[in-house]
Amino acid sequence: MTAADTFFTADIPAAPYDELRARTAGTVAVAGEPEYEALVTPWNLAIEVRPDAVVAATSAQDVLEAVRFARAHGLEVTPQATGHGAITAFIGEILVNTKGLDECVVHPDGWARVGAGVKWLRVVEAAAPYGLAPLSGSVTDVGIVGYITGGGLGPMARTYGLASDRVRAIEVVTGDGELRRATPTEHADLFFALRGGKGALGIVTAIEFDLVRQPRFYGGSLWFDGEQAPAVIAAWREWIKDLPEAATTSFGLFNLPEMPGVPPMLAGRLTLSVRYLWTGDAVDGERHFRTMRTAAPVLLDDVAEKPYTAVDSVHTDPVEPLPAHESAMVLRDFPAAAVDELLRLAGPGSGSPQVLVEVRQLGGATARPGEHDSAFAARDAAFSLLVVSIPMIPGAVEHGQRIVDAMRPWFGSRRLPNFTSDAALLPAAYDEWTRAKLRHTIRRYDPDGVIAIGHAFA
Ligand SMILES: Cc1cc2nc3c(=O)[nH]c(=O)nc-3n(C[C@H](O)[C@H](O)[C@H](O)COP(=O)(O)OP(=O)(O)OC[C@H]3O[C@@H](n4cnc5c(N)ncnc54)[C@H](O)[C@@H]3O)c2cc1C
Repeated sequence: MTAADTFFTADIPAAPYDELRARTAGTVAVAGEPEYEALVTPWNLAIEVRPDAVVAATSAQDVLEAVRFARAHGLEVTPQATGHGAITAFIGEILVNTKGLDECVVHPDGWARVGAGVKWLRVVEAAAPYGLAPLSGSVTDVGIVGYITGGGLGPMARTYGLASDRVRAIEVVTGDGELRRATPTEHADLFFALRGGKGALGIVTAIEFDLVRQPRFYGGSLWFDGEQAPAVIAAWREWIKDLPEAATTSFGLFNLPEMPGVPPMLAGRLTLSVRYLWTGDAVDGERHFRTMRTAAPVLLDDVAEKPYTAVDSVHTDPVEPLPAHESAMVLRDFPAAAVDELLRLAGPGSGSPQVLVEVRQLGGATARPGEHDSAFAARDAAFSLLVVSIPMIPGAVEHGQRIVDAMRPWFGSRRLPNFTSDAALLPAAYDEWTRAKLRHTIRRYDPDGVIAIGHAFA
């Protein structure tokens, strides 16, 4: 802190957090208190999350009290469930930790209701006995509300579309300090904005969404030595041209460290994994995948018929917290020239320091509008590019950005909100009309700017 900072902050009294404590059932901890660290530390350990105070909400009423308190004292609030998508610039003075909002009810007739603190794994496990599955993401450790409010593109996306298109209702404490239920017919403007608009409108307390009948799938990951990347990616590009919507696929170039959970044959070298999930009959899924099995000598083949509870084996994302920096963009095309650029920076012999460089094929059901209009604005994206760097590796973040920049000739028009970790880039996830609609809705439901993320749209 500089002398000037001390001068300006010395006169600002701390908010009377004891008042908030008296009104909430959950813990309220200010910086320096014993419970504070565990409540604020995000899954992504590279992100600074240092609010003045954190409220461990145990009910919608606690969230309501936190937002009303913030509004009364001119403070900003941010929700956090897991911290997978934490962004320092969006951390206001008060963090509402939603882990305690842990209700999770799966209805055998095909839908679920969960509290804002619930992660996908709970629903996957509770839905499995009924042969049902949610439209979860690449790893079931991610929080449901954060994922869905950003659209939600999972390993079955080309068959079933975005998770945000399957939402029935959202309960939310808006910045004006009211608890509201948004559905296609109640507060329809909120319902629009909360599906794709991230947490810009308020703090969601509960969400209801449809499940799909998918007891099993055919899929997993097929691993090659990184030296084979040019041949495998060329084969992948050809193969995806006629791939039915029952298939969702991506590839990842990995530099995995030697650590527990990483098979030794995949550690300490460049590898390439082709991810595949087929939602139809397993025999057809196997037949469609044969092309990739013959693309080059295979290091490890984990593609088989599995219960949906094994869905994390498709992307093999990490579960333990780690420090990560993401650079990402969507592509409208992925021609041979784009592959050449990608391999120049991240392929064999490039010395790429990136843990993961991933390209997902989109299209299919993700390209079609859902039943109800939403703020998700990247329907025309054909591919998603994501680079995950470990910020402690010198030059890794800059190199990751260079990879994304090299793809500029093939950039799509709108970013994916869920893969936008730079606050300044979030507005670029929306077209002008959607941004205007979001701004209008924010002004209506959060006139005092209490919800920190809403400021990205100012
Ligand atoms: C390993 C990994 C894999 C991923 N895989 C996918 C994937 O396959 N598909 C995909 O689409 N995304 C994916 N993501 C991105 C992920 O969906 C977003 O980062 C998402 O925001 C994480 O939500 P969270 O609640 O876990 O994280 P948090 O950091 O707790 O929340 C992140 C943001 O979500 C919003 N949010 C969270 N809770 C609330 C609430 N109660 N009310 C309102 N807004 C809220 C806020 O904007 C908040 O800042 C992945 C991220 C990681 C780190």
